[in-house]
Amino acid sequence: MPFESVIGLEVHAELLTQSKMFCGCAVVDSTTAEPNRHVCPVCTGQPGALPVVNKRAVEFAIRVGLALNCAVNRVSVFARKNYFYPDLPKGYQISQYELPLASNGWILIDTPDGAKKIRVRRVHLEEDTGKLTHADGYSLVDLNRAGVPLLEIVSEPDLRSVEDVKAYAAKLRTILRYLGVNNGDMEKGVIRFEANVSVRETGTEALNTRTEIKNLNSFRALVNASAYEIARQIKVYERGGAVAQETLGWNEASGKTVSQRSKEHAHDYRYFPEPDIPPLELDPAWVEEIRSNLAELPDAKRERFLAFGLTPYDAGVMVAESHVADYFDEAAKFAQSLKIEPKAVANWILSQLFGLLNESGQEIDQCRATPERLVGLIKMVADGVININTGKSVLSEMFVGGQSAEEIVRAKGLAQVSDESAIVAAIEKAIADNPDQLAAYLGGKETLAKWFFGQVMRAMGGKANPAVIQKKLDEKFVELKRG
Ligand code: ADP
Ligand code: MG
Ligand code: ZN
Repeated sequence: MPFESVIGLEVHAELLTQSKMFCGCAVVDSTTAEPNRHVCPVCTGQPGALPVVNKRAVEFAIRVGLALNCAVNRVSVFARKNYFYPDLPKGYQISQYELPLASNGWILIDTPDGAKKIRVRRVHLEEDTGKLTHADGYSLVDLNRAGVPLLEIVSEPDLRSVEDVKAYAAKLRTILRYLGVNNGDMEKGVIRFEANVSVRETGTEALNTRTEIKNLNSFRALVNASAYEIARQIKVYERGGAVAQETLGWNEASGKTVSQRSKEHAHDYRYFPEPDIPPLELDPAWVEEIRSNLAELPDAKRERFLAFGLTPYDAGVMVAESHVADYFDEAAKFAQSLKIEPKAVANWILSQLFGLLNESGQEIDQCRATPERLVGLIKMVADGVININTGKSVLSEMFVGGQSAEEIVRAKGLAQVSDESAIVAAIEKAIADNPDQLAAYLGGKETLAKWFFGQVMRAMGGKANPAVIQKKLDEKFVELKRG
C-alpha cells in the first residue's frame, strides 16, 4: 500500500544583533573568535545576575513574524526550559513557551504542482547555547555563543515530501536574509533544522507517531536525513511493526539516523515563567511601524520581475538571493532609463555575469561590473557599437578591472566596424583566397555560407558588425550564383 510522508520543521536562526539576547556581550563569529572572550555574569549563569531583553532582537523577531503572516501577540512570556548540559551554564534555557511572540502564519513554497501554503505554527525568541568541541578523551566549552539571540520557527506538519522540505527551508532562509535578520551562512551554523517525520497510508488523515531528527546543519543533511527516515518508517509499517517516538541524530558518514533518546516531553523540562523577566508587552504602534518598514519580500519581487518579462524560472533564480535581486533591480532601473528591456539585462546576468562570479568565487554585491557598468555595456551592444561577442570579452575585462565599457572599447579599439567598404573588401578577399570552398558552396553545399561568414569575421578581428557582413555576403552570393 502506498504511503505519504508528513513532516514538520523546527528552524533555529541566530539573529544578527550586535549584542546578546539578555546581556551586553557582543555577538561574534563563533567559528573564528577566541573562545570565552565574550562572556559575562549573565550569559555564564552566575547567581544573582539579571537578564534584560534585547530590544533589537525583539524587533527582528517581529519582522519575521510579520513576514511569515503571523499574528504578532501583544503579550508574550519568557519561560525557563530546565535541563542540564555542559554548554548551558544556567541549567536552563530562557525561551518562550506557552505564549510565543508570534503565531498562526504561513508561507508559500514552489512545488511542481504550483504554489503551496505551509502553515507556520509559531515564532518565538530564545537564546543559543554555548559550543562544545569534543576531543580525544576531553571536551572543550566555548561560551561566546551562549546567550546569542535565537529565533525558533515551527511549522505545522504540512510538508509532504523531501522536495517540500527543501523548498520550505530554502524559502525561509531567503526570507530571513531579505529581512536582514540572519545571514543564512549554514556552514557557520547560524541556521539549523530539526525535522519531525512520520508516514501514513495515502488517503488517511490521522497523524502517526513521529520521530524528530536533531541538528541538521545543511540542506543536504536535512533532505538526506528526511528521506532516510521516511523510507525507514515505511519499512517498519510494511513489516507490521510500530514506529517508536524518539529523538534521532543524523550520521552523515553512514547516511543513517541514529537513536539519541526516547522522545522527551514538555513536562520533562519543567517549564515555568522566567521570574526575572516581566511579560513582553508590545506597543501596537511599534509593530505597525515595523510592518510599514518591512523589506520587499521574495514573492512580491518575483511578481515584479515576471512583469519585466522574465520566465518564472529566471525570476525564481533572480529572487533566491537578496543581493542578486538587488543587483538586478538596480540594473533594471538603469536599463529602463536608457530604453533597454530589463529582460535583456536579466539574460546578461544569468548567462555571462553568473559565469564570471562562479569562476572567481566573488559575490555579486562586491563585483566590479556594477549594475551601471553592465547596463552601459549592454547599451553599447544594443546601439551596434560593439557586437555581442566583443561585449562578452569587454564584460570579462570590466569584471576584473572595473572600467566602464566605453573606456575598455576606446582603449582597445574594439568598436565594431560597420564600414561597408572594409567589410566588402574582406568578403572579396575571402572568396578569392578560397576557390574550392566557393565551388562547393555554389555546387549546393549551403552550410559553407556560415564558414565564409566566419572567415570574414576573423579577418576583421571579430569586430565587424555581423548584420552588415551577413547582408553583404548574401548580396555577393546572389551575384555569384547569377553568374
Ligand atoms: P514538540 O514541541 O514536543 O517538539 P510539537 O507538537 O510542538 O512537538 O511539534 C513539533 C513539530 O513537529 C512541529 O513542526 C509539528 O508540525 C511537527 N509534528 C507534530 N506531529 C507530527 C507528526 N505526526 N508527523 C510529523 N510532524 C509532526
Ligand atoms: Mg521539538
Ligand atoms: Zn554576557
